[in-house]
Amino acid sequence: MAAAALSRRALLFGRTAAEAPAVRPPWALAEAAFASLCTRCDACVRACGEDVLARGADGLPRFEATAGECTFCGDCARACGTGALDASLSPPWELRAQVGPGCLPAHGVVCASCRDACPESAIRVPPGGRGAAWVDPALCTGCAACVGVCPADALALADAPLEAAA
Ligand code: SF4
Ligand code: SF4
Ligand code: SF4
Repeated sequence: MAAAALSRRALLFGRTAAEAPAVRPPWALAEAAFASLCTRCDACVRACGEDVLARGADGLPRFEATAGECTFCGDCARACGTGALDASLSPPWELRAQVGPGCLPAHGVVCASCRDACPESAIRVPPGGRGAAWVDPALCTGCAACVGVCPADALALADAPLEAAA
């Protein structure tokens, strides 16, 4: 496995939620431009019917991957009047689900909660606890429906595909 992939996995799964970089709402500009344009008005947070956006400690909105699923309805982007969220961007983000080393079937425990929650049928799980779940990055939209349902907290979102967990 490449060292870059190893360090990236450590970045994702070795940190607490408080330490992890904030995931911005869908259609957010790159972080510097987003932070510059966002007036911290909370309009996007209020517009989200799925309650997956929240105001962070920095006052900026963040996507809470463990809170539920983004349906990509676009209400947040339409509510943003400053351009910090740009509804013309396609896709809305590059996030994909990543499976970490805590995945239960990788340790012989039968589980398919993430697969069953995925609206895109993007997750494969070997039967009988004989290997880790695997996310097809071509199908995954980064909606996070799988993240909060994992009993082992083994899923996270990242902006580039990783190698499958060993
Ligand atoms: S696209 Fe819709 S569900 Fe997703 S964060 Fe925005 S308002 Fe919420
Ligand atoms: S609606 Fe736009 S300006 Fe207001 S908090 Fe959300 S991203 Fe920032
Ligand atoms: S983040 Fe990807 S793998 Fe997880 S439920 Fe959504 S589409 Fe499926």
